[in-house]
Amino acid sequence: MTNRYVGSSGHGLKIRGAKHFIDEVDESRKVTNEVHRILTTQYNGAGSVFHDDTSTTQNQNLQTIVNYHNKQARDLDWSIHFNAASVTDAPRGVEVLYYDMRDLSAKVSAAISKVSGLKDRGPKQRNELYFLKNTYKPAILIEVCFVDSEADVALYHKNFNAICAAIAEVLAAHLGYTKKKEEVKEAQAKVMLNDNKSIPAVIIDGRTHVQVREIAELLGLKVVYNNESKITKLYEVK
Ligand SMILES: [Zn+2]
Repeated sequence: MTNRYVGSSGHGLKIRGAKHFIDEVDESRKVTNEVHRILTTQYNGAGSVFHDDTSTTQNQNLQTIVNYHNKQARDLDWSIHFNAASVTDAPRGVEVLYYDMRDLSAKVSAAISKVSGLKDRGPKQRNELYFLKNTYKPAILIEVCFVDSEADVALYHKNFNAICAAIAEVLAAHLGYTKKKEEVKEAQAKVMLNDNKSIPAVIIDGRTHVQVREIAELLGLKVVYNNESKITKLYEVK
C-alpha cells in the first residue's frame, strides 16, 4: 500500500503569521501546494494538504490544523512555515523542526540549502510546539527561510521551484515514492502546401513530425528509400 502524507500551511487566512518582505501565510500556501503537486504528479505519491481559512484565534487555528491531520489515514505529517527574527539584510537560513524525526529533518534542511544557497541551520528538536506535539504521526515543520531577512527572501524568490522540488524529493524518498516516467505529449496536426494540399502530422514534445515520403510527394520529389542503409534519398524531378 502506498504511504500517505498530510501537508499543511502554517497559521491561517484570518490568523496571520510572520510578515515583512514576504507574508508567511501566502508563501506557506504556495510552497505547500507546489510540494503536493510535485508529489502527486511527478511522483506516485498520495496525500492531501490543508489550509486553515476559518479560525480567528491562535488556539482555534492550531487545533483546526492538527485536527485535520489527525483525521486522515497517513504516515507522515509536514507543515510549511517561514521564520522571523529581526529585520536584516544578512542571510539567516532554513531550519526544520521535529519531535523525533531528526534524520528526515536534517535531510530536508540540507536539501533546501543545497538547491537555494539558503544557510543550512539544520534540524531542531522542538517537542513543545503544538503541531509537533499533537499530531500523532511522525511530523516535521519546515521553516523555509526568514521573512525579515532580505538575503533569504531574495534566495527564496529566485529558487522557489528548486526549493519545492527538493522538499518533494526528500519526502518522496522517505515515503517510498518513485518518479513517474515523463509523459510524451502528442497532438494531431496538419502540414499544408499552398493552403490546398495537406498531409497529417503529429506534434511530439513540441515538434511537428510528418512522414518523409508524404512531405516529399507533396512537394513533387521522388523518394528512394534504402532499408539496409536506412538512407532516404530525395530527387528533384526535372
Ligand atoms: Zn509560523
